[in-house]
Amino acid sequence: MKRLLVLLLLFVGACDEVAPEHKETLYVFGTLVEFTLRGTPPEAAREAVSAVEKDFRRMHRDWHAWKPGELTELNAAFAAGESRQVSDFLLPLVRQAKEHYATSDGLFNPAIGRLIDAWGFHADELPKGSLPSFDAIRKLAAKAPTMDDVAIDGDRVSSRNPVVSLDFGGFAKGVALDMAVARLKSMGVKNAIVNAGGDLNTLGDAGERPWTVGIRHPKHWGVIASVDLGDDENLYTSGNYERFREHEGIRYAHILDPRDGMPVEHIVSASVIHKDGGLADAAATALTVAGPKDWQRIARRMGVEYVMLVDDAGTAYLSPAMKERVRFEPGEPVKLVVGDPH
Ligand code: ADP
Ligand code: MG
Repeated sequence: MKRLLVLLLLFVGACDEVAPEHKETLYVFGTLVEFTLRGTPPEAAREAVSAVEKDFRRMHRDWHAWKPGELTELNAAFAAGESRQVSDFLLPLVRQAKEHYATSDGLFNPAIGRLIDAWGFHADELPKGSLPSFDAIRKLAAKAPTMDDVAIDGDRVSSRNPVVSLDFGGFAKGVALDMAVARLKSMGVKNAIVNAGGDLNTLGDAGERPWTVGIRHPKHWGVIASVDLGDDENLYTSGNYERFREHEGIRYAHILDPRDGMPVEHIVSASVIHKDGGLADAAATALTVAGPKDWQRIARRMGVEYVMLVDDAGTAYLSPAMKERVRFEPGEPVKLVVGDPH
């Protein structure tokens, strides 16, 4: 009996060895999401990815900032000064958004949906032509919509400020990939990468070695550096170079400084590694707003240790822990500045 058990265990082990890498790509949230599963038999792998796809469809519907769904209904309730019952699918995002708002000193502020809309970013295609009136933007920003205005009472949510409109675009991808990996894990997957255009979550490892992934280059297609991820770590990069509108030669980025409602001007990308994908995504957005001058303070407040910013001049600003880990491409960066989060 014991022998049989040993044989069985060996057999299971051998299956794990020979199970091929399973790759599958989904088109969701307006982006391609690539799955790489290692050590899962093909049939089980397909089933697991298809379960995640179902989750993604629900997120797309209920977390969308401008297409009709649960979040737009909640925003309508805020505008009408009413409270609303919120599903346990949406409520955790509201709770996490409040936390990240507080720890980022307000630089990550998903309550500024109206400002994002006013700039024309609530559209699949970016607008062309004239810009919103800067005076109207300033007036809207002066009404100071914040996550502190949003109150959670059991499963009911309300806002004391009717101008609050939630837009989770700054961290929904991170939360979505956290849930995706949790789903894969619950279906028996041990090793995986879920990669949404360079923002990615990992699970387990790539065999006898960690997963090696690329950090997106801020200025052109490709990577600026690579890094090994283990221990279920995730990597998120935000930047104001990737989605912006242009008017008379000036770029207006999709990341806004909540303090004045204006697009972040300094061109910068921020990358963060953390085991909590939602936090990494929120921190990457907040650090893009903070920029080269303020990133150390915000990184510390948000509790992120592995951080890299890259500016327009090609200068990379790294935390000491991040510097230990990244391997730059030849010729990168132009200049390197190491700064302790403080
Ligand atoms: P991406 O997902 O494009 O890599 P981000 O994670 O930085 O980039 O998310 C950008 C989105 O975050 C914007 O499209 C907008 O919906 C939202 N956003 C913009 N500025 C802020 C801000 N200061 N705080 C929170 N969310 C923001
Ligand atoms: Mg982000």
